[in-house]
Amino acid sequence: MALKSKILHQNTKIVATLGPASDSKENLLKLIQAGADVLRLNFSHGNHENKKEIIQRIQEINEEHGLHIGILGDLQGPKLRVGEMKDGGVEVKTGEKITFVNTPCVGTIKKTYMSYESFAADVQVGEKVLCDDGKLEFVVAETDGKSKVVLEATFGGILKSNKGVNLPDTKLSLPSLTKKDIEDLKFILTQPINWVALSFVREAKDIVQLRDFLVRGGHKAKIIAKIEKPEAVLNIKDIIKETDAVMIARGDLGVEVPLEQVPSIQKRIISMCIQKAKPTIVATQMMESMITNPSPTRAEVADVANAVLDGTDAVMLSGETSVGMHPDVVVQHMSRIIAEAEKNYELQDKRPKPNRKSVTYNSDTICINAAKIASDIRAKAISGLTISGHTAFRISSYRPKSRIFIFSPEKHMLATMNLIWGVKSFYYDKFTTTDDTIEDIAMILKKHKHVKVGDSMVNTGSMPLHKRPRTNMLKITVIE
Ligand code: PEP
Repeated sequence: MALKSKILHQNTKIVATLGPASDSKENLLKLIQAGADVLRLNFSHGNHENKKEIIQRIQEINEEHGLHIGILGDLQGPKLRVGEMKDGGVEVKTGEKITFVNTPCVGTIKKTYMSYESFAADVQVGEKVLCDDGKLEFVVAETDGKSKVVLEATFGGILKSNKGVNLPDTKLSLPSLTKKDIEDLKFILTQPINWVALSFVREAKDIVQLRDFLVRGGHKAKIIAKIEKPEAVLNIKDIIKETDAVMIARGDLGVEVPLEQVPSIQKRIISMCIQKAKPTIVATQMMESMITNPSPTRAEVADVANAVLDGTDAVMLSGETSVGMHPDVVVQHMSRIIAEAEKNYELQDKRPKPNRKSVTYNSDTICINAAKIASDIRAKAISGLTISGHTAFRISSYRPKSRIFIFSPEKHMLATMNLIWGVKSFYYDKFTTTDDTIEDIAMILKKHKHVKVGDSMVNTGSMPLHKRPRTNMLKITVIE
C-alpha cells in the first residue's frame, strides 16, 4: 500500500476519530493511506458490538498490509449533560432563571434534569455553569443543598436536549471512572486497544485508578490523561508523572478555562511532557471547517503547523473524520501541513536529561546519548529494541534529526508506539546474538529503503541478549 505520509517521512503523528463517515473497511483504508497513524474510538458514542467490528477491521488491515496502526479508546469520564428538553430545546433569556434538578424529567424553565446527583450539595452560590460548549452561561443563584439549583442566565440562548454542562468553579465529588466507564473498560479488557484516554482527569490519583483497573485485568494498554479541567492544569506535574501520555483536549478545556489561555497551556504542557518523555496529542477543532468544506481555513493551517512547531507528538481530528464530508481529504491536508512545518522544527527548550533517581537512569542515559551522537555524526537512523516501549519514548523525547526505528517482538507494542513522535516500528523476534541483530536491522532498513550503503546508524540494544535487560548498549554502524 502506498502510504503518502510515510513516503514524505513525518515525525508528527495523526490521530483520526472514527465514526459513520470513516469506519467502513474501505474508508479506514483511505484514512490510513492518507496518513492516519492512530485511530480513535470515542466511547461517548456507539455501542460495544459496533466498536468490536471496527477493531476487527483495523486488525485485518494491519495484518493484510503489514501495518501497525494504533487504536485509541476514549472513555467519556464524568461528562455532565442536561436531559431531554421540551420540544428539543427551551429558550432561557439573559437575566431569566432556570432550575436544575437531579431526577429525570422533560426539561422546562421550572425543572431541568442534569446528570449529577450531588450537584446541589457540591455547588456554591456565585459559581459559573456553562452549557453547550459555553454557548449559554449561568451563575448559581440558589441551592437547596439536596436536589434543586436555581441558575440565572448571564448569557442566554436555547438550551437543547442532552447538551454538555461544564462547572469550571465547582469541586466535583464525582468519581473519575463512572459506571459507564467501568462497563466500557470491561469491554476494552477483551480488545486489542493500545491507548485508553481518560476524560476530565482532575488529579494523578485518577490515572492510578485507571492503571489499577487495566493491570488487574491483565491489559497492556497505555494511558492518556485528557487535560480539560482547570484542576488538571494546576495538577499537571503530578499527572504527567503518573500517565503515559497527555491529550490537550481543547474542546472542554476552552470552556473550563478562559479561551485565551489555551494556546499557552498547550505550549507549556508539550514542553513539560517532552522533558519527561511522555507523548502529547493536540486535539479539537484543528480542521473544523473541513467537516463540510473541501479545504481548511488559513487559521486552521496555522494551528496545525503551530502544534507541530510546539513539538507535539500527534495532532488529532474529531468531527472532521468521524462525521465530516471528506475524512481522507482532511488527513491528506493535515499530512501536507505537517510535512511543511517540520522543515522548520527545532526543539525550543533544553534537551531532556535523564533523572539520576530513576530506576531507568542508565538506559535513559544510553537512549538520550544515542540520539545526541546520531545528531553529532549526522546519522541517518537510530535503532532500538524494546519490549516495554521505554526505549522508543526516550529516544523520541530528544527530538533527533535522525529517523527512529524501533524493533520489538511485542505485536501490541508496535501499534502502541505508532503514536510517538518520529517512531517507526518493526516486528523482530530473533534474539541470537547482538551482532546478528544489528546486521538484521541494517538489512531490514536497507530493504525498506530507509538507509543506504555508506549511511551511518546508531544502534542501541541490550546485552546479554538472552537476559533481555533494559537498553544498555550503544554502537555506531556504517551500512555496507
Ligand atoms: C475535547 O474536549 O477536546 C475532547 C477531545 O474530548 P471529547 O471529544 O471527548 O469531547
